[in-house]
Amino acid sequence: MAQEDNFKKIVSHCKEYGFVFPSSDIYDGLAAVYDYGQNGVELKNNIKEYWWKSMVLLNENIVGIDSAIFMHPTIWKASGHVDAFNDPLIDNRDSKKRYRADVLIEEQLAKYDEKMQKEVDKARKRFGDQFDEAMFRQTNPRVLEYKQKQDALHERFAQAMQQPDLQELKQIILDEGIVDPISGTKNWTDVRQFNLMFSTEIGAAAEAASKIYLRPETAQGIFVNYLNVQKTGRMKLPFGIAQIGKAFRNEIVARQFIFRMREFEQMEMQFFVQPGTELEWFAHWKETRMKWHQALGFGAENYRFHDHEKLAHYANAAADIEFRMPFGFKEVEGIHSRTNFDLSQHEKFSGKSIKYFDPQTNESYVPYVIETSIGVDRMFLSIICHAYREEQLENGETRVLLQLPPALAPVKLAVLPLVKKDGLPEKAREIISQLRFQVNCQYDEKDTIGKRYRRQDAIGTPYCITVDYDTLKDESVTLRNRDTMEQTRVPIAQLQEIIQEKTSITNLLKQL
Ligand code: ATP
Repeated sequence: MAQEDNFKKIVSHCKEYGFVFPSSDIYDGLAAVYDYGQNGVELKNNIKEYWWKSMVLLNENIVGIDSAIFMHPTIWKASGHVDAFNDPLIDNRDSKKRYRADVLIEEQLAKYDEKMQKEVDKARKRFGDQFDEAMFRQTNPRVLEYKQKQDALHERFAQAMQQPDLQELKQIILDEGIVDPISGTKNWTDVRQFNLMFSTEIGAAAEAASKIYLRPETAQGIFVNYLNVQKTGRMKLPFGIAQIGKAFRNEIVARQFIFRMREFEQMEMQFFVQPGTELEWFAHWKETRMKWHQALGFGAENYRFHDHEKLAHYANAAADIEFRMPFGFKEVEGIHSRTNFDLSQHEKFSGKSIKYFDPQTNESYVPYVIETSIGVDRMFLSIICHAYREEQLENGETRVLLQLPPALAPVKLAVLPLVKKDGLPEKAREIISQLRFQVNCQYDEKDTIGKRYRRQDAIGTPYCITVDYDTLKDESVTLRNRDTMEQTRVPIAQLQEIIQEKTSITNLLKQL
């Protein structure tokens, strides 16, 4: 419950401080669609810059593209999205609420984890220092029973999804006694398939119009351009193509704020490799991507890999990077070894050869692909959730603070004249005019210094400077650190170097 309350606070904080607004707010919103406000867009741009530079700037064999959202409709036939990009949905007749059958079962699987963890926690209390968790998990009859049930459910679920067997999915829900969290009943309808792609029509005259889709992923724009880029960029395998762009999915269940949206943004990189080398590259990208996440400094314990055991028919390895959100460990990024499935399908459906000629072996073949795919909005949510803090101060007050990684903070430096007179505002503006080309600065002269600090803490500004009467005499200012609240006196001449050193994305990239 405390976690839920905390999450609610984060959502309202995002609105109150200009990070995320519900879309069409004055019309009471539009489900699962959100707008980014003045601070949100800065944070989002910084996340994108961090990703883009880590791909395109740091790897000479990765280049970027920006493909259109609309694409030839046959692309989605070839990729399998028209026939198989479905979610199984189920309704509860009493609450009239709609759920994803697979998500209900996944939550049930997670409940077994919770039950096992409870047993472990109880035993740890009982045995204290001598407790051997691994041994306990291998031998305790209760834990073993839960594990057995979980494995059996997992097996049954994976088979039903693979088919897909909708009747079996419903039977699993009934057999596991899964109830609707709202009505508390098991009064379920049958499970139906629901295609997640939005469609619309292209062409002016109704009779000539044809159905096209809003892309549900950015990856296909990379696949259909792969040969264009390879040839015009004279790329040699292995090489990658990166893209950031909007994707659209008509998600059945819109929940958890910007975790699951109908319009969202993806950062995807497809890495083309020689067949037979893909698993090495898969391991490489798993490690590289985890490093990228962990460089943000949120603590390694908040990330984990979830390796997929049951794979899509075209994949030969897949793993998610999960982050500890307030509602549990959740997928933020997927890394997939997609074989040559997509490119081969496009060859088949377009009738054009998109083979790569390998000058080393003198052979032509369809490359294999490793994909790294991360949602900008989910990344944004994970960062905000982890950064949000409420701190008790010594004077009894509470301060709300966003402990954002400085390189991602929307505003890097707030410049605050002590009073609104005697030349202090002018001096503050002079400092900003020197720094604004390198550092995102904000000027604030309203209210007491304490209140102004609180406002900056709430949007995650890592540094504030106060311009006071001494500044006019000695060209120095008081620099205040957001996290420690420590204040030091520094010469104006050194400000740019200090702030840039602590807040530049370049320094973050150097850790990779
Ligand atoms: P999920 O199982 O949560 O629906 P997925 O496995 O379908 O996600 P992918 O198709 O692998 O997701 O998409 C790659 C990434 O895009 C995800 O890791 C996630 O960060 C992001 N993403 C996918 N769907 C959404 C959505 N509806 N809203 C926001 N981000 C999304």
